[in-house]
Amino acid sequence: MLYLSTRGHPDRKHFCQILLEGLAPDGGLYLPESYPQVDAAMLAKWRGLPYADLAFEILSLYIDDIPDSDLLAICRKTYTEEVFGTKAIVPLKKLEEGVYLEALSNGPTLAFKDMAMQLLGNLFEYELGRRGEELNILGATSGDTGSAAEYAMRGKQGVRVFMTSPNGRMSPFQQAQMFSLQDANIHNLAVEGVFDDCQDIVKAVSNDLEFKRKYRIGTVNSINWARLVAQVVYYFAGYFQATRANDEKVSFAVPSGNFGNICAGHVARMMGLPVTQLVAATNENDVLDEFFRTGIYRVRGSADTYETSSPSMDISKASNFERFVFDLLGRDGARVRQLFGEELGTKGRFDLSADIERARSQFGFASGRSTHADRLATIKDTFQRFGTMIDTHTADGLKVAREHRRAGETMIVLETALPIKFAATIVEALGREPDRPAKFAGIEQLPKRVTVLPADVARVKQFIATHCA
Ligand SMILES: *Cc1c(COP(=O)(O)O)cnc(C)c1O
Repeated sequence: MLYLSTRGHPDRKHFCQILLEGLAPDGGLYLPESYPQVDAAMLAKWRGLPYADLAFEILSLYIDDIPDSDLLAICRKTYTEEVFGTKAIVPLKKLEEGVYLEALSNGPTLAFKDMAMQLLGNLFEYELGRRGEELNILGATSGDTGSAAEYAMRGKQGVRVFMTSPNGRMSPFQQAQMFSLQDANIHNLAVEGVFDDCQDIVKAVSNDLEFKRKYRIGTVNSINWARLVAQVVYYFAGYFQATRANDEKVSFAVPSGNFGNICAGHVARMMGLPVTQLVAATNENDVLDEFFRTGIYRVRGSADTYETSSPSMDISKASNFERFVFDLLGRDGARVRQLFGEELGTKGRFDLSADIERARSQFGFASGRSTHADRLATIKDTFQRFGTMIDTHTADGLKVAREHRRAGETMIVLETALPIKFAATIVEALGREPDRPAKFAGIEQLPKRVTVLPADVARVKQFIATHCA
């Protein structure tokens, strides 16, 4: 399997060549040249497999430069009951007739990003070891991504993590999760500023090509193809749990921000998984809902980007969205380059209203929007009626799922985080603290390992340089 850029660059690359890269050289995103197709015999064979082996079957269709025996070992080392809490890894829970929650958030940091990041950690260690290279991951986080990256990379050979976060702005639980890590290869940098300052610093460092090369700087952001393909696996796993036979169909509702999670659903559907609808749920930051309703994609400025109670979906643009647009436009790289390069660059928006009906009919997309009041109501209703406590992001997904579910349809809502990560809103909705998994008892009291730095690129570079020796 070879990979191409969504903006038409002529190069083709293998999986391990793009594994450690971010964007393609022309600023596009990598996608496989074609989607491998699953047939009835493959689905029948996969239905009974343990999660790790299912992951291997799917990943091996996309990876031709890691020997099968090594890839299987990596998958089995990653998706264990010990790390993800259950044998099923992503257990399905029935809420009411036709509505299920798929639990993606029982990994080390209690958010779905662990599903891909844990695999990425093992793939990075494997590939860097094979090349005899090292990598210094520089990132910016407002919560979930940074902790998932740190828990995936801690103690890994050849990898260091430098994770910037806005000082004092993450929830106490999120801070405790990250800052309590004592591993020598994990560096927490609390920047005196907001999340945008952190992102600007990461961009500035990455744009200094000499520094980047000298210190072997890399990233683990959600545009990484390996993360995306790892997420394809749980769409299959959810399907197998919700159905008895492979002629049945299901739909998925996905709490969406950067369009990474639901893009994996799109890939699964393109491979032939029997999926009817892919429902994107947004919060008040409704870039994606606006697109799927109108065909107009409009990037928001920082004044129009809201801080909400489902903060991991607070986005001004959806960084993986270009992948879907590439497929929607019949894989026309020149057109994608024009839309995401020139049009967004000059106008901050583009208009695909002529194509939007096909996004629904041919690709199965639907969308909806949820607000703080909806989240509170959904969390309360779910707890009262089913005794199940859900987090704010999952609540957005469930609210929008119900709006789109048709009679007789099986709708799987992806649970993307556990309520303990967003305790303040749970208290607001339910008047009580969320349940806390036993292994997180008292983490706020653990010693913290963090360096506070001014929002200054030079100081961050200096920190990296002195800790790379
Ligand atoms: C990252 C995240 C999302 C959004 O996922 P995307 O892949 O960016 O669409 C939703 N919910 C939670 C809890 C997250 O951490």
